[in-house]
Formats: sequence, C-alpha cells, structure tokens
Amino acid sequence: MLTSKSTVRKLLIALLLVIAFALLGIWQRHLLLISPWSIGEPPALLVAQTEISAGSYWHDDYFLIEPIDSQTIAIGEPRYAQQNYSYLLLGDEAAILFDAGPGIRDIRSVAQSLTDLPITFVPSHFHYDHIGNEVTFETVAVIDLPYLRERAAEDSLSLTWQEHLGNGEGFALPTLEVDEWLLPNSVLDLGGRELQVLHTPGHTEDSISLLDLSSGAVFTGDFVYPGNLYAFLPTSNMADYLVGANNLLRVVEEDALLFGAHRGPDPVIPRLNTQDLKDLREALSLIRNRQLQGSGSYPVSYPVNEQISILAEPRWLQSWRSEYANQP
Ligand SMILES: [Zn+2]
Repeated sequence: MLTSKSTVRKLLIALLLVIAFALLGIWQRHLLLISPWSIGEPPALLVAQTEISAGSYWHDDYFLIEPIDSQTIAIGEPRYAQQNYSYLLLGDEAAILFDAGPGIRDIRSVAQSLTDLPITFVPSHFHYDHIGNEVTFETVAVIDLPYLRERAAEDSLSLTWQEHLGNGEGFALPTLEVDEWLLPNSVLDLGGRELQVLHTPGHTEDSISLLDLSSGAVFTGDFVYPGNLYAFLPTSNMADYLVGANNLLRVVEEDALLFGAHRGPDPVIPRLNTQDLKDLREALSLIRNRQLQGSGSYPVSYPVNEQISILAEPRWLQSWRSEYANQP
C-alpha cells in the first residue's frame, strides 16, 4: 500500500514537471525558435544571378540598382539569401532611404552614389535584415510609438532581441540614435514630393509603410510582398495585421502599386497591387472567423492568393486583440 502511494506521488510530480516544461516551452517558444537559427552558420550568399530585369544594372557584384522612375530607385540584394529590397526616394531637396538591408555590404555608400541630396534613413521595422546593423546613417527617423519613446533615453533607442532577431545571423543588437520621430499619418516633405507615414503593424508592432502622395505608390516593407508573410514572430500579431491592412486600404488608390522588401521567385522588384492588399484583408478576416483552413503545424500556412501566403501561429496561439484597433 505504502509503495503504491509513493509511486503515485512520483508519477504526479513527473506529470507536473512535464506540464511545467511544456508551458515554459510554449511561453518561450520564440526564443526556442530563434535559438537553432543562432547555432547554424549565417546563410551563404546566393550564387551570382545573371537574370535581371530591363533597366536594372549592377552597382558592384552584390547590389542591384533598379530605377522605378526618375525619383524612385530600388536597391536590391539578390545575392543575399533573403533577397532584400530597399528604396531610395528622392525629392527636390531631400531623400529617404527606406530600409537598409542586413548591412553585409555598405548600402549607405550605394545610396550616396545615386544622389547628392541629404539622405534620411527610415527603417520599415527593426528586424536585422532591414536596419543595416553596422552600417550607420547621419540622420535616422523612426516611427513614434509611445512604448518606443519611453524607452529611448535622449533619443537613443536600444532594440530588444524580439524586435531585431539578428542573433541567428550573428548580428549584435544595435542602438539607433534617433534624429526624428515619425508620428503615424504624418507627412515627410522631401521638396516637391510628400510621403505619408502609415502605421502598418502585424508583421511587427513597429512596422510602417510609406505612401507617396503624388504617385500613389506604397512602400510596404515586410507588411506585404509576393511570398510568405511572417506573422508568427515575437512581435507579430494577427489582429494588428488586420488593422494594418485596413490602415492601408483606407488611403491607397484603386490602381496603386505596392513595393515590398523581399523579392519572390521572379528576378524582379517585389511589386503588388491594391487587389493583393484586399486579398490579404479578406484572408485575415476569414482566419479570424475560422473560415480559412491553414496547412502545416508550426507555422501554419494560410493561402491569400496565388502569390501570397500568411505564416501564422496555430489558431490557439494566435492573438486577435490589437491595441491599435481604434486608431484614427
Ligand atoms: Zn521583418
């Protein structure tokens, strides 16, 4: 009798330990996700790609320059595994560099070779493959969100690992010296060209898009591009994603072009249109209402259209509460 009681007690303790470890694992799932990335080697550069679109040219053996119009230049990194695209946006008096890639090479000097205008670096969000890491800029402008402002003593903003995620590829956490804080919906005047800052959370809480008020083009960072959209990362939030889609759809024209930050399988600038954005909003609404079936276990892949999928956490881990739901 005594033996059986103590066996039951041992089994109970073992069960409690298993449950505790499982809960700890779920709670720290993003850290567990990032850890294996940190063990491996950083991804090798892709082999040199010779296939480029008409009008594009190589800056060197790494950066691809793809002019969109006389004042908009896409700077691609097609040899980097994530195939990033950053955008140099020129006005008459000033320029914006929207994203800076991972900083494997110096994009600042590339941008400076394309214009004599003063350049302000504006990250679409703080992930390591957009922030430039060791590449620094004279002027930096970032989204003005209360929690970021609170953290930035004397405008020095140290990123958290959840915001940056760069340890997987060996990038140290950077500190941004912020020169300008961009309120959501504020307008950047480049002289003869105005860009509106749109808060488009979802992929990350701090994600922004820029709307060109004259051409109607939208630069969307990682919020939307052709391919798999990452909505399962530490600061991703599904309800935020829907808010971001609505924020964009409120202001974009029917015939707008959207330029994303990662290229798909085709060797061209990652370009989408307003219908893709509508498809994204529709898919998010369907996921929220449990009307769209995903595939896979972690992350779960939900189809948006032929070009786009959303990679999300399993339903029971998805967050459908957004503190930005009632934004103006
Ligand atoms: Zn990202």
